[in-house]
Formats: sequence, structure tokens, C-alpha cells
Amino acid sequence: MDVHDQARLGAEARFVARAQAAVQMALQSRVEGDPAWDSFLASLGLAPGTCEERLALQRQGVPNLKGALPVELRQALQAIRGEVLRGLGPLEDAPLRLKLDTLLDREVREYLNQCRPRVTLKGIFANAQATTVRLGDAPDTVKALTCRCCGAARPENSNPRVCAFCGADLFAGGEGR
Ligand SMILES: [Zn+2]
Repeated sequence: MDVHDQARLGAEARFVARAQAAVQMALQSRVEGDPAWDSFLASLGLAPGTCEERLALQRQGVPNLKGALPVELRQALQAIRGEVLRGLGPLEDAPLRLKLDTLLDREVREYLNQCRPRVTLKGIFANAQATTVRLGDAPDTVKALTCRCCGAARPENSNPRVCAFCGADLFAGGEGR
């Protein structure tokens, strides 16, 4: 293993440790934010949204979400990724950037799994029925307007590149839904 490989593994480990700490803090925050989460965002140079903005975003995504907004977690992880890469200086390279992107996406998806409300069996059936009806009635264009990462619908009359709720790239190919 050369110096470059060691630096890369060290950077990955630093990123994952800081990302997991951020996930724990996000899980303990309310969706409207709280002092610990807001000051954590500020320490990364991110401006917390207002309570109204956050609740509006939550309604677009998963109404009963517990924890901070997924899009805020993603922005925090992106800031951490930037700090880790800058810390490497000239050893930073494209494969490492890609690797951190993959790890970042994985943390956000795992966060979404953890902060969704617990689903009861009754809820699953009700949901399955509602989904069938909705998809059956919807034209293809509407079906395509949901986020692959979190499932949130894109707001009408807008054409954003990223999901307002979780921050995922809405035009990224690859993984199925
Ligand atoms: Zn999303």
C-alpha cells in the first residue's frame, strides 16, 4: 500500500466517522431544527432554514418524519466531504471524490430508513392500496416526477434539478426504484 492509498483510506474513515456523528445528531433533532443541530449546521457554514420553510419541505416529503430534514443532512455531509478533501491537499483525486459521493449517498439513504415513521402491517396494506390507485390514475409524466432516493413528489409547476426534501439529484441515472 503506497502513501496515496493510505491517505485515501484515512480520508474515507474520517468522512464516515464525521458523517455518522452527523446522522446521530440529525436523528435527535426535531424537523424544525433545534439548537444543537442548528449550531452544527452553522459550524459547517450552512444557514439553517426557518421553522416555516422546514415544515413546508417536510409536508412535501414524508409528513411524519422524525429527525432533521434529509436535505439538511445531505448538505452537512457535502460540507464535511469538502473539508476532508481539502485536508488532503494535492493527494485528493477523482476516485476519492467518487468514493466519498457513494458513501455520502449511502448515509442519506440509511438516514431516510431510520427516520421514517414505523410502518404497521395495517399501514402497509393501506399504503399499497393508495399507491395502486394513485399510480393507476397518474399519467406517465407524473410517475416520473418522484425522487428515487426518498420517494417525495416534485412540486408542481417547477423543474428543480435536486429533490427539495432529501437533496438527491433527480436526473441521476443508475439505481432503479
Ligand atoms: Zn428525495
